[in-house]
Amino acid sequence: MRLPKFEYFEPKTLEAALNLLTQNGNNAHLLAGGTDVLVKMRNGRLKPKAVIGLQGIENLNGIHFDSGKGLTIGATAKLAEVASHPDVLKHYPALAQAAQVMANVQVRNMGTIAGNLCNAAPSAENAPPLMAMGAEVAVANLQGDRRIALDQFFRGPGLTAMEHGEIMTSIFVPFPVPKSGASYKRVSARCGVDIAAVCVSAWVALDGEVCKDSKIVLGAVAPTPIRAVGAESFMREQTWTQELIETAAALAVQESKPISDVRASADYRKKMVAVLTLRALEQAYERAIKN
Ligand SMILES: Cc1cc2nc3c(=O)[nH]c(=O)nc-3n(C[C@H](O)[C@H](O)[C@H](O)COP(=O)(O)OP(=O)(O)OC[C@H]3O[C@@H](n4cnc5c(N)ncnc54)[C@H](O)[C@@H]3O)c2cc1C
Repeated sequence: MRLPKFEYFEPKTLEAALNLLTQNGNNAHLLAGGTDVLVKMRNGRLKPKAVIGLQGIENLNGIHFDSGKGLTIGATAKLAEVASHPDVLKHYPALAQAAQVMANVQVRNMGTIAGNLCNAAPSAENAPPLMAMGAEVAVANLQGDRRIALDQFFRGPGLTAMEHGEIMTSIFVPFPVPKSGASYKRVSARCGVDIAAVCVSAWVALDGEVCKDSKIVLGAVAPTPIRAVGAESFMREQTWTQELIETAAALAVQESKPISDVRASADYRKKMVAVLTLRALEQAYERAIKN
C-alpha cells in the first residue's frame, strides 16, 4: 500500500515543533526515526495530515554522561548510537544489550529509544532495562516541562501518560549505586529481526550476600511492560541463594499475563518468563558483585 498524502514539517526548534503539534491538533503526528510510524502509515493504521519530523531540532540528539548524576539520552539519539556509546557500555550494559539485540542494523541506525518508548508496544525492548534502572522521561509542552517516572509512563498498548501537544525531549537514567547490577534477556522466534516474544530485565543491589533491593521488569507478557513487584519484594533483605532466585522467577511467572499470538503461545511465554527471569537475576548478581 502507498503512503497516504500528508504535509511534512521539519522544525528547527522545540518551540516550533510544539506550536505545529498544537496548531494541527489530532491531524498531526510526530516522527523520530519513522520505523514504527511509517509502517503504520503504510498499512493504513495511521493517517496523519501533518507529520512533524523531530530530527532537525537542535540539542535533542545528544547522549550525555555525568558520573555524579547519570545518563541523559536525547530524544533523537539513535538506537545504534546508544548501543555503542562507551559510557552506556560501561555503566549501563543492560540498556546497551537491549539496544544492540533488537531489530536489525538498518532499523537501529534510524530508530530511537524515545520512539521505542512513545510507541508503547507491550514488547518495546528498551522499556524493561530502563524501568529496572529507575529511568525517568522529560516531556515538554507549550507551558513548560515535566518528568515522568518510566514505571508510571505506560498506560496500555500504544498509550502513554503523555498528552497530545507534548514531546519527549530526553530520557534520564540515574548513576548506578555501588554493588548494583542490571541485565537484559530476550527470546524471539527469529533472533534479530523479530520483535521479542518475551523480554526480561533485572536489577539488584547487594549488601554482601544480602539482596537489599531488586527490580524485575517483564516485557511482551502484559498490555504494558510490567514490574513483577511480588517477586521484587520477596527478594528484599534476603540472603542470595539459588533457591531465592528460583522462587522469585516462579513468582514473576504468576505476575505475568501473557496472550497467545503469532509470536508465541501464552503457555510458552509463561515458561520463558521463568527461564529469562532466572538468567537475568544471575547476570545482574554477577555484575553487582563487581561494581
Ligand atoms: C523491521 C523492524 C524490526 C523491529 N524490531 C524491533 C524489535 O526487535 N524490538 C523493538 O522493541 N522494536 C522493534 N521495532 C520497532 C521500532 O523499530 C522501534 O520501536 C524504534 O525504537 C522506534 O523508534 P523510531 O525513532 O523509529 O520511532 P517513530 O516510528 O519515529 O515513532 C514511534 C512513535 O513514537 C512517537 N514519538 C517518537 N519520538 C517522540 C518524541 N520525542 N516525543 C513524543 N512522541 C514521539 C511517534 O509519534 C510514534 O507514535 C522494529 C521495527 C521494524 C520496522
